[in-house]
Amino acid sequence: MRTAGIDIGSRTVKLAILEDGRLRAARKRENSFDPLAVCRELLDGERFDRMVATGYGRHLFAREIAARTVSELTAAATGARWLLPSCRTVIDIGGQDTKALSLDDSGRLLRFEMNDKCAAGTGRFLEVIALALAARVSEFGALAASAAGSCPVSSTCTVFAESEVVSLIARGVPRNQIALGVTESIALRAASLAHKAGVFPDVLFTGGVALNPAVQRALEARLHVAVQVPDDPQIVTAIGCALLAASSPADLDASPA
Ligand code: ADP
Repeated sequence: MRTAGIDIGSRTVKLAILEDGRLRAARKRENSFDPLAVCRELLDGERFDRMVATGYGRHLFAREIAARTVSELTAAATGARWLLPSCRTVIDIGGQDTKALSLDDSGRLLRFEMNDKCAAGTGRFLEVIALALAARVSEFGALAASAAGSCPVSSTCTVFAESEVVSLIARGVPRNQIALGVTESIALRAASLAHKAGVFPDVLFTGGVALNPAVQRALEARLHVAVQVPDDPQIVTAIGCALLAASSPADLDASPA
């Protein structure tokens, strides 16, 4: 069976196609004011037997395009275990959400924690701060890693943190020290969610922010365990959807979030 999983996130839409237990396609596009158009573009020309959707836009998508839906938590846990069968903890930092999931030995969700509605400590927060530091988000990790020491950024609100960064720049604090301070604050928030959910090795770090190696290292320093990042951390939840598309309808959208 050929199955598709689509993860309609706040910043990007991700598509994974699986066949015979193998990943056949993995693609992503930036999201826009018209998520359905982005989804249609991603799906254009793709053939599959079944599809499952997750993410912010999943209900709109399911109404307009025939697909079943599943919670992001179930999809993230399923994708994580497929990529790393020994995974017991998933930390996912996307555009607007930070999630920590703890799983039992068989991969069932034991507990989860999520950030509140505030974007602090998420990918969007990183984008705003990167802009203030005149850095690309893709370069942010290298910038932070180049600092010998960090300059703490204490504001938790994205707007206040941006102002704090602007005044630190005006005081002559080097950009890389600010970048490291921001990285540490993101890791602190994610680690505290993970501690609440329970941290059991192996730990997998997923979502777009996992592309930032400085956040990975800062998480390891906070959690005192190795934190693994898959080759394409953004696609994990979409893979989970594609796996769940092959399972029975009873497994779908029966879980929280
Ligand atoms: P969502 O599922 O909410 O759409 P993603 O998992 O796609 O979010 O993550 C988006 C975030 O990932 C962005 O806000 C940005 O901070 C981060 N990001 C995206 N690309 C990169 C990159 N190349 N390097 C580092 N961080 C990145």
